[in-house]
Order: sequence, then C-alpha cells, then structure tokens
Amino acid sequence: MIGIQVGAVSFVDEGVEQVLDKFQQYAAVNTLFVATFTYGRGIAGRQVPGQPLPDHGKQEYDTGTFKGGSYTRVHPEYYKDTVIQDFRASDLGDFDVLESVIPAARKRGMKTICWFEDVWSPGVPNVAQAQERTLSGANSTNLCFNNPNYRNWLLGTVEDYARSHEIDGIMWGSERQGAFANMLGASHGGGGRNPDTVTCFCPHCEQKARARGINIDRARAGFKALGDFVTAARQSQRPVDGYHVTLWRIMLRYPEVLAWEMLWTDSLRETYAAIHAKVKSVKPAIGVGWHIWHNNSFSPIYRAEQDLSELGKYSDFLKMVMYHNCGGERMAGYIRAVGQTIYGDVPPQELLDFHYRVMDYKLEKPLAGLAQSGFTADYVYREAARARAALTGTATKLWPGIDIDIPTGRTSAKSTPAGTRDAVLAAFRAGSDGVILSRKWSEMRSANLKGAGEAIKQLGLA
Ligand SMILES: [Zn+2]
Repeated sequence: MIGIQVGAVSFVDEGVEQVLDKFQQYAAVNTLFVATFTYGRGIAGRQVPGQPLPDHGKQEYDTGTFKGGSYTRVHPEYYKDTVIQDFRASDLGDFDVLESVIPAARKRGMKTICWFEDVWSPGVPNVAQAQERTLSGANSTNLCFNNPNYRNWLLGTVEDYARSHEIDGIMWGSERQGAFANMLGASHGGGGRNPDTVTCFCPHCEQKARARGINIDRARAGFKALGDFVTAARQSQRPVDGYHVTLWRIMLRYPEVLAWEMLWTDSLRETYAAIHAKVKSVKPAIGVGWHIWHNNSFSPIYRAEQDLSELGKYSDFLKMVMYHNCGGERMAGYIRAVGQTIYGDVPPQELLDFHYRVMDYKLEKPLAGLAQSGFTADYVYREAARARAALTGTATKLWPGIDIDIPTGRTSAKSTPAGTRDAVLAAFRAGSDGVILSRKWSEMRSANLKGAGEAIKQLGLA
C-alpha cells in the first residue's frame, strides 16, 4: 500500500488526471487518502501561508479564501440524529472531491480512502450544542465524543461516505488527549496552555463518570490542585519537595484526575469502535482505521494511552505518525513544555536523554540543534518495529505516516529526497504493510515525493 494524502484544492488547481499522473510516476502511489472533511489547514487547503509554495499547483496562498468543511456533497438523510447539518465547504464552489476523483482513480486501479479529522470551526451552525466543556465551564472549540450530536454526526458521516460512493476505506484522526495530559502540557504544542481550558466536563461526560463510579467533585478538586501546581511551576515557583514529587502527591491524593484521563481515552476508543461497526454494517469490505497523533512519539503518557493491542480490535489499519523531519522540532517543543511542569527540576538535555531512553530512540541528536537536524530514519525504523510488535496477533495493517515537507520553522530541518527515501526504506525494513505519504500534496515538493519513489523502486514495489 503506497498511499498519499491529498486535499480537494490540489485536484481543482492542477487537474485530477495530472495529479494522479504525478503520484503514479513519482512514487508508484496506489492509494489516495482524500481529505473529505476538516476545518484545519493541516490536510486541506494550499500550502500553509508563510511556508514556501511547492513547484506545482497555483502559485498563490489561499489566505482568506480557505474555509474548510466537507469537500464532498452532504446527503441530509444521514444527519437526522444530529443538530450539525450545515458543514459543506464553500471555498471550492460545488466541487465534490469524491465524485471527481473516484472514477479516475478506479480506471487506474488506484484505491480511494476518505480521510477526515476531528478539527472544527466555531462558526458551524449549532456546533455549540456538541462542544466540549472546559474545567471552568466554558465551551471548547473541540467536540465531545460523548455528546450524541457529535457521535451521531460521526456515524452519519461514515455512513454517508460508505453508501454514497465506491470507496475502499475510511480513515479518521483525532489529535487530542484528555484533561490530565493537557493540563501538564504533555504534547509538542502543549506549553503555555491555560489549565482552566482542559476538557471535557460536560454533562454527558459527568454522567459517564458517575456510571463508572468516579466522584466528580473529587475530580474537579484534583484538577484545581493540578492547575495551581502547573501555574506556579510555569512561574518557576518550585514546590518545597520539587516538581516531580509534588505531582505524585497530587496524583496520590486525587487519583480521580487519572480516572478522568482514562474516561476521555476510553470515550475516544468507543468512538473508534462505533465508527468501525457502523461502516462494517453498511459494507464489510470497506477498510476502517485511524491516524494516530505524532504525540505518540514524544509523550510517554500519550503513548501509554495508545494501546495497540486494544486498538487492534476495531482497526483494519493504523496510520502511526512517524514524521522524522519535523519530529526533531516537535520533540524539542515537547521537552520545553514538560520541562516547565512535570520535570521542572530536570535540565533540558537530561530530560531529552531520559525520553530517548524510555521511548527507545538511539541515534537522535542532542537538544541544541535538534530542530535543525530533525529525527533520523532510525527513529522511523524503531517506531515501525515497535508498532509491528505491538500488533502481533491482530489483523491490523501497519501504515506509518511519512513526513514529506511538513512545515517547520524557518531555521529548522527541511525534507530532502534522501531523507524521505531513507524514511520509507526504514518503514518497510521494520515490517510495515505500507506507507502514507503525508500530510498533503499541496505542501510537498516533487523532488521529495520522488525520494519516496526511489525507495519504492529499490524495494521492488513499483
Ligand atoms: Zn463531554
């Protein structure tokens, strides 16, 4: 399986046949991961403003015209059980990416997988009725898995895809985590987050917590204590017994904060299982799987939550994100974030060394210059081999996400043809069943996609 992620705008800007020609010629791509729904710029739209435009597509940014939403027609009969009904993207007029691409792809023997993600806009009509609630009681811009309006929207969407089009698969991604990990800033973008904005404390989640026997008042008191700890830590107010010990004291006093984290994680897993079951009930041949967030490579907490033997029960495939090039910059960001909370007493390089140890990375660079060097292909090998081993005994296919020109800071590492080639080789050497070239064609340079193609040729897969 040689897959590539591509958004609707690329087909509009460059022409469907022209894009497919390049995919086949450059990298022997046989599967399209078409962005069908998102309000984010990570997988839809042109190149992110401020990043250099690639050597193909319209040579201008879509700042101001990018809107997001559904890039395929919405069939209202599938959205009767949710108040979210008005989410068709308007930025490309009446263009329907699935209607336009699937026939052309089929003629070439290419498969099409609908690829959508958990990224919303607060401007969607009625969306407030599906949003998560923060610790302080405000609405979040994210939607709650336990809210029937969101659950039914997700199930309606996959049923719409499965019944309305001749698709081969559906992939959904949620790049989020629960209140405990978020409060500690335990992610690559997690530094500086206001502790009061963690989620979810909505009535649906509280009801589910009660059913599990979690004391809601104790959980709230625990998060209040944890929030005070984080706020003081970020101001370098070292607790008497230090940061790590004090965090343990809070967890021991209020185990409810961990129970709340697991409640969130289980709710995501139940959502996966429900989506999987819904699609299988419509058409068993459609593959269903998940994009697993890059934080899995940085945070031991998040990695612990990604129990692949558990996910394997309702995953035909997993896209485990292993973005090597931007991985260095992101790991550095993660270290900065948790260095201000959990590990306030640990010097940054020591903290990175500790993470290299516990995450089992061997050849990665020191903190100074890590963003400039990125991660190595050995990182991809280790992550893929670990995922492969963790999936033993399941039928789940392993399709690592490979970094091709994912935007990084101005002075940070940039993708190269050789780097991309080596990442693809490493993924297959570790026993992967395929690769997903990411994040989207509209930000990739042709030479770097050809680098992936070089690996595929070397492996005899072309
Ligand atoms: Zn909730």
